[in-house]
Amino acid sequence: MTILIRGGTVVSATGSALTDVLVDGERIVALVEPGSTALGSNLAAAAARVIDATGRYVIPGGVDCHTHMDLPFGGTSSSDTFETGTRAAAWGGTTTIIDFAVQFKGERVQDGLAAWHEKAAGQCAIDYGFHQIIGDVNDESLKAMDELVAEGITSVKLFTAYPGVYYSDDGQLLRAMQVAARNGAVVMMHAENGPAIDVLREQALSRGETAPVHHGLTRPWETEAEATHRVLMLAQVTGAPLYVVHMSARQAVAALQAYRDQGFNVFGETCPQYLYLSLEDQLSRPGFEGAAWVCSPPLRPRAEGHQDELWKYLRTNDLQVVSTDHCPFCMKEQKDRGIGDFTKIPNGLGTVEHRLDLVYQGVVDGRITKERWVELCSTTPARMFGLYGRKGVIEPGADADLVVYDPNGHTSIGIGVGRTHHMNMDHSSWEGFEVDGHVDTVLSRGTVVVDDGAYVGAKGHGRYQKRALCQYLT
Ligand SMILES: [Zn+2]
Ligand SMILES: [Zn+2]
Repeated sequence: MTILIRGGTVVSATGSALTDVLVDGERIVALVEPGSTALGSNLAAAAARVIDATGRYVIPGGVDCHTHMDLPFGGTSSSDTFETGTRAAAWGGTTTIIDFAVQFKGERVQDGLAAWHEKAAGQCAIDYGFHQIIGDVNDESLKAMDELVAEGITSVKLFTAYPGVYYSDDGQLLRAMQVAARNGAVVMMHAENGPAIDVLREQALSRGETAPVHHGLTRPWETEAEATHRVLMLAQVTGAPLYVVHMSARQAVAALQAYRDQGFNVFGETCPQYLYLSLEDQLSRPGFEGAAWVCSPPLRPRAEGHQDELWKYLRTNDLQVVSTDHCPFCMKEQKDRGIGDFTKIPNGLGTVEHRLDLVYQGVVDGRITKERWVELCSTTPARMFGLYGRKGVIEPGADADLVVYDPNGHTSIGIGVGRTHHMNMDHSSWEGFEVDGHVDTVLSRGTVVVDDGAYVGAKGHGRYQKRALCQYLT
């Protein structure tokens, strides 16, 4: 089955040009200059289907390298399954997710991984891979890190946050980083000072400060900047490649920038919520409303200037990736466990469907170029996590993961008639957002899964992707 995408502007990380894209089966087989007869004088007649992309962009499918489908958290689980979450992702032009398999305390790494394979197998609308959370660093789990690399799981996530759950002490972090330095895995780090935050939380509760805003006030930027600086130093000691996830504090990115400038293989991602949302505008809404925006790290005060600085760091490549940290919870029977005690609110927002549109708004607003948009959302995440060549690029031989994007379209995000929202949530983290641009058509490995805005994909189409080692090291 051949598909010709005709008349569009192919946008890549390095440039843009009017180019037709020919797909055969699951792969891109040719890029054709408009009017070229090199492959015959009437390609369109030979193709089984022609997609007219005139006036639109053709971009490599989005790679969201940070999602949590069906993740147990605080006695409940994130509300999107692999089925509902990957369908919503497809709707928004994301054709690959990398989700986090979890080794819980006392569990074997291999058993944690097997549980995630079971959750995802046969359920996904788009392709998927895994990182492995090592929640219990010990001799056995360190040994398992070599097996993970062999199975295409070339990144592990460690935490300086959540004591008693995922937390590793500095000695454990160091030992895991030594293994990564040897076997080439990327160490992903949730960098917040968990033990200090726990004290601030207890003190706030004992003063009767129970509202959602106190989630933010008890995780001040210093606790992120301190932990970030600490793990940067440990990366320097061990030589492990380090990728700091969901960076929200400008001071933490400034520390990362300083080490990048010295030539270390250290990287950072941020997420749309840290670019657009804030403690003042969302987290401190009256009553319990702010609970919808409880996530960690927290939405930061706009008065502290984080949001604009993060956009700048995206422009200067001090931050390399925009992922979502998609981890949705409903207000009813999930977030509402924290009424009267903000520490019991499950942490997370739902964004997997909206990332391409939200970051494209940065192009419209003049913050980044359209090429940088593609690089941040697709090309670099693919390179960072060993998928490049197959994913993240439009060239012959690559998987035909393609998005026809209308730069003159419009997307109204939220719940209700004419609004876009397909995640399994009873609210939207982005209700009322009006953004430029629109995902029209999406192909996943040569199969049309979104056709002119309508989902036509199928559960089980998505395949597990074994990943190579990081392709972004300097
Ligand atoms: Zn995290
Ligand atoms: Zn996360």
